[in-house]
Amino acid sequence: MSLRIVVTVKYVPDATGDRHFADDLTVDRDDVDGLLSELDEYAVEQALQIKENADDDVEVTVLTVGPEDAKDALRKALSMGADKAIHVEDDDLHGTDAIGTSLVLAKAIEKAGYDLVISGMASTDGTMGVVPALLAERLGVPQVTLLSEVSVEDGTVTGRRDGDAASEQLQASLPAVVSVTDQSGEARYPSFKGIMAAKKKPVESWDLSDLDIDADEVGLEGAWTKVEEAAERPARSAGTIVKDEGEGGKQLAEFLASQKFI
Ligand SMILES: Cc1cc2nc3c(=O)[nH]c(=O)nc-3n(C[C@H](O)[C@H](O)[C@H](O)COP(=O)(O)OP(=O)(O)OC[C@H]3O[C@@H](n4cnc5c(N)ncnc54)[C@H](O)[C@@H]3O)c2cc1C
Repeated sequence: MSLRIVVTVKYVPDATGDRHFADDLTVDRDDVDGLLSELDEYAVEQALQIKENADDDVEVTVLTVGPEDAKDALRKALSMGADKAIHVEDDDLHGTDAIGTSLVLAKAIEKAGYDLVISGMASTDGTMGVVPALLAERLGVPQVTLLSEVSVEDGTVTGRRDGDAASEQLQASLPAVVSVTDQSGEARYPSFKGIMAAKKKPVESWDLSDLDIDADEVGLEGAWTKVEEAAERPARSAGTIVKDEGEGGKQLAEFLASQKFI
């Protein structure tokens, strides 16, 4: 029996770059380089490990919803070892919120065909951590989120979720959606061979009409959430220096109390 895994990967603005909001209060993606969200590298890694450990055929498809440059994120995932990629791109997606993104991802996953969806625990830009749950709801399948260990056997996905006080062992029958944490295992670096092989792997491009989604269901118009206001973070101030002239400890405690740290 074969297993079809779809990994959702997000193309995010480089956190080390100078990031801004555009005039319509969406993220300005033109003036900053982007990359595959680091947290989604863990999702790709887990899919590849399931493939490597399986006796049966496993196909790993990586899926992104994003602008033209989001292809870079797909190429990275393909060079790590994924088999094929799907890129959903459409001008009408500008300003889409998490609800809209989950609609587009779910329709694309259904069109691609799947047994298991693997997502990151959160994106490194929006960091809402809601898309996997939204996807499971839209697809009508079980969700097993925040796993630090994941395996698949006999039509069942099993994983471990680590909390502060306990670890849970969870199971769901396939098809299912899982999300994995940054504790699930170091993501591999693409090898030179992998980078060369990725150039020949198939990348399908779909737009909203391919997914039977109306423009008013997504974009700024279709968004359920709205950014009302955004302001530059104020420049860092010089800070407070506590000189120890016998009363240093007391001054330090007073300072920490004034900032509500203690
Ligand atoms: C072209 C475009 C324009 C957008 N404009 C806006 C905007 O103006 N305002 C706004 O609020 N939001 C916008 N979004 C949506 C936003 O960037 C997020 O994708 C969405 O809100 C999900 O929130 P999050 O990133 O916090 O996801 P989380 O819930 O933190 O993500 C969890 C996991 O879901 C998957 N995932 C999330 N997003 C994607 C994706 N796009 N493709 C593939 N996998 C994904 C990843 O596996 C990720 O690790 C836009 C998205 C696109 C594609």
